[in-house]
Amino acid sequence: MDSLRVNADLQKDLFGVLLIEVQVNGKDFPDQDSWGVDLETFFDAINSQKKTMRFVRGCGDFDCCGVEVSARSSTNCWEWEFERRTLQIPWSDVERAVAEVITSVEQLSDDGFGFGPQYLEERLKYFRHKLGEVQAFFSGENKS
Ligand SMILES: [Zn+2]
Repeated sequence: MDSLRVNADLQKDLFGVLLIEVQVNGKDFPDQDSWGVDLETFFDAINSQKKTMRFVRGCGDFDCCGVEVSARSSTNCWEWEFERRTLQIPWSDVERAVAEVITSVEQLSDDGFGFGPQYLEERLKYFRHKLGEVQAFFSGENKS
């Protein structure tokens, strides 16, 4: 199994997309030049058969320097396909990472960050729903 961690600091790319930095096996993912993963695509990829996550890197313009990583969910782990390797991330790591992202977004509501409160409330609702899906995988209830 591989390991996943997130950095609690949220950021925005050049176009205002909400990102979070990710470490896989203790290293910045996909590389040191990474700004982070587009949070929407990260959450969309949870509990999916095959979805693409968008990582912004380099100059901060996904269309120029971005990387797509394909992800799919199984009962055992969250699989990411990257550079002909399959990373196997245990649901326990995903659960912790998702919970940390939610805490970070909750804290954003206090200091603004340029997103309206209504937008953040909607996002939090979606992210918490996804946390429930992760926990269902984790407990083996979700066998799709
Ligand atoms: Zn670039």
